Amino acid sequence: MSPIQSIKGMNDILPDTVTAWQRMEDILKQVFSAYAYHEIRLPIMEKTDLFARSIGEDTDIVGKEMYTFEDRNGESVTLRPEATASCIRAGLEHGLFHNRQRRLWYMGPMFRHERPQRGRYRQFHQAGVEAVGWAGPDIDAETIALSRRLWRELNIPTPRLEINSLGETDSRCRYRAKLVEYLEKYREELDPDSQRRLTENPLRILDSKHTHTRQILRDAPKLSTYLDHASSEHFEGLLGLLDEMGIEYTVNPRLVRGLDYYSRTVFEWVGEGRGAQATVCAGGRYDGLVEVLGGQSTPAIGFAMGLERLVEAARVQSAKSGPEVFVIVVGGRAKRQGMEQAERLRDRGCRVQLHCGDGTMKSQMRKADRSGARVAVIIGEDESAGRLVTIKSLRTDIEQYTVREDRAPEAIAELLAKTSDREDGIH
Ligand code: ATP
Ligand code: MG
Repeated sequence: MSPIQSIKGMNDILPDTVTAWQRMEDILKQVFSAYAYHEIRLPIMEKTDLFARSIGEDTDIVGKEMYTFEDRNGESVTLRPEATASCIRAGLEHGLFHNRQRRLWYMGPMFRHERPQRGRYRQFHQAGVEAVGWAGPDIDAETIALSRRLWRELNIPTPRLEINSLGETDSRCRYRAKLVEYLEKYREELDPDSQRRLTENPLRILDSKHTHTRQILRDAPKLSTYLDHASSEHFEGLLGLLDEMGIEYTVNPRLVRGLDYYSRTVFEWVGEGRGAQATVCAGGRYDGLVEVLGGQSTPAIGFAMGLERLVEAARVQSAKSGPEVFVIVVGGRAKRQGMEQAERLRDRGCRVQLHCGDGTMKSQMRKADRSGARVAVIIGEDESAGRLVTIKSLRTDIEQYTVREDRAPEAIAELLAKTSDREDGIH
């Protein structure tokens, strides 16, 4: 029978790489906590309506990318393509936003049926924050400062911050008319999606990845010209705060986000290279969403980061997760003694690999060496007869020595401390 392979665009993360992911996840959690965010865990599937209503029918996500199917009861369900909608749904369902302000973060897999390529997958992972209940530019600046801290902690080259304001609905309407007027002149040259959007949702065209469409857009009217006064003030306030914090940015008047629910502030952190896959973090303000999902009008802002892209950018070195101690056992009685020793070392917090199965002393020594452990605990026939344990340093030339079994855990801990090396992490 031919072997079954994984679904295209859905990747296994193998043990070698998992350690880098774990390090990154730890850093994300620390930084989120440092800004008083609280974790929320959400289902991977939701009713299709949730995404249709919040993300917008005419977006790439809802239009082409969702994994939507009928469950056994005939209800239309969707594997989540992003988590903001779920976050707000959950917050409303459990009264988290009732007269409260909330800072929430989440992390987990998302699903989009896109064309798989480097940095773009069908199952990928996002971590994100949502700050619900604040209207002013201070929280916008804070979420951006939080993301900047992440680049520092993850030790990745600082991506470029692009920022824009989409204004309120009214100013967007006025702008839309001007944009359509301009693009009508080039209708025949636009890509088919953009031609369709010219009547259905023209602002979306600004987000097109089509090269020629992007060229045409270069001379299009700018949204900033039509910005309402309150949004301008908000944007100026935010830029002032960023200046004060020494956060560099580029105002990109053509930056819109691929989701319908954004208003005012939108931003993206764009890393080096990889064209359309260079954005590592994207977010913005979505003051209208809570109401769209049935709550009272509530301002909110958030961002999401693509973790595959971050792991790659961080060139994270694997954290040490292999064993520190390898227990070599020859003979049945030695095996029982070795198991007991291993348990006592684990009680002390050591990472221990016990040799399982048969094998000569020599072959087990080779395995101990390859395991990366710093210390070998040797229980051969002589040791087990005398209830002794031989301790050998594998990475230094400290002489091996034999101790009584009950003294062994302490002696091993001492040797480990003496030979301790720097824990590898994200450097
Ligand atoms: P793009 O324009 O690249 O398709 P998007 O606007 O659809 O991005 P968002 O929905 O804002 O992306 O998602 C936030 C971040 O999640 C992106 O900046 C990216 O880092 C990551 N991301 C989005 N889609 C994928 C994917 N299919 N595979 C890997 N990472 C992704
Ligand atoms: Mg996309």
